Amino acid sequence: MIRAGTIKLPFTFAVGKAASAVLSALEEKQEILGSHCKKCDSVLAPARSFCPTCGTTELTNWVLPTKGVLQAWTEVPGRGAFGLILLDGADTAIPHHVLTPPEHLKHGTRVIARFGLNAKDSSKAELLGFKISEVTE
Ligand SMILES: [Zn+2]
Repeated sequence: MIRAGTIKLPFTFAVGKAASAVLSALEEKQEILGSHCKKCDSVLAPARSFCPTCGTTELTNWVLPTKGVLQAWTEVPGRGAFGLILLDGADTAIPHHVLTPPEHLKHGTRVIARFGLNAKDSSKAELLGFKISEVTE
């Protein structure tokens, strides 16, 4: 006999030093935090604990601009679009929700971050996603 069921498994985990810095910057300052590698001059988005290009751990925090380019995107039925956003000055793209309706999306279009209040804790901000500024939602 096979029975279907759902297991609810609440958990907590430490996200690490780099991800903690990224989340704190988002929640407290509405900033997107990256890392700058002094060794190979890469700007990484989001912040990391080591450089994926040269491997060094000698990185400094780097506040990224909130504007960039939509490099690629896909539509997830019922959930909207998700894309790879290359923020201005960054060498790596970040995946995130794209708030603009998919029928308006084009590769290479300029996008801007949109912040809002965290749904679970309104004393904190969150990055809701990116939208194409020239399209009215
Ligand atoms: Zn590097």
